[in-house]
Amino acid sequence: MFTIPVPTLPTTKGEAFPVRRILCIGKNYADHVAEMGGDPKATDPVFFTKPADAACAETSIPFPLATEDLHYEGELVVALQAGGVKLSPSDVPGLIYGYACGCDLTRRDLQAVARERRAPWDLAKALDNGAMIGPIEEREGQIMDAGPVRLSVNGELRQDGDLSQMVWSIPEMIAKLSLYFELKAGDLIFTGTPSGVGALHRGDQVEVTVADLPPLRFGLTE
Ligand code: MN
Repeated sequence: MFTIPVPTLPTTKGEAFPVRRILCIGKNYADHVAEMGGDPKATDPVFFTKPADAACAETSIPFPLATEDLHYEGELVVALQAGGVKLSPSDVPGLIYGYACGCDLTRRDLQAVARERRAPWDLAKALDNGAMIGPIEEREGQIMDAGPVRLSVNGELRQDGDLSQMVWSIPEMIAKLSLYFELKAGDLIFTGTPSGVGALHRGDQVEVTVADLPPLRFGLTE
C-alpha cells in the first residue's frame, strides 16, 4: 500500500511539529465582527476546521483553485502539546506548546454562497494550503493576550489589530472548543482575525506579524 506523510511544521528549535487537527474560531475581534455585521458576545464562538494537510510553511504557493475573491486573515496560531475534554480556562496554560503567525486563507466568494445557501463553510475554508503558518516558537505554558497583530501585502499594511481586542481569550476559546472536540497534542488553533480583511492576487507577497513571534512570509505564484 502507498504511504502518505503526516503533516509537520518547523519550529524555531529546528524540530518538526506534527499537525493533528486545525481548529479555527471566527468573528473573534470586535471590530472584525462589526465589519462583517454582528454582536460579538451574543452567542458562543463560531468554530470551523481545516484539514491537517492545509497546514503549509512554504514560502510560495500556487493561487488557490476555484476562487476570484481569495482573502487573507492574519492570525495568532496556538500549538498544543496536550489536550482533553470539558476543560476549564485554568487548564489551558498546561496544554500550550507554543505559538506562530498564521494566515487563514479564505475563498470569500464561496463563503458568501455558503452563507446564502445556509451550507457548510468547507469549500470556503478547507482549501489546499489554506492554513499558512510561520515557524512555531516554543512558549510552554504561556498565554498571549496582548501585542500587535499585523498583516501587510506587498509591503502595505492592511491589518493592524491587537491581541487584547479578542472577544474570546485563548483560555476561553480552548475551553469552549473542548466541549465539542477532544483536543490532543498536535492540534493548532487559529484565534481569529482583526479588521481589514481583503483580497489577494496572483504575485502578491504576504507578511503576518504577531507581537514578537517570528513572522510568516509567503507569496502567491501566477
Ligand atoms: Mn479566520
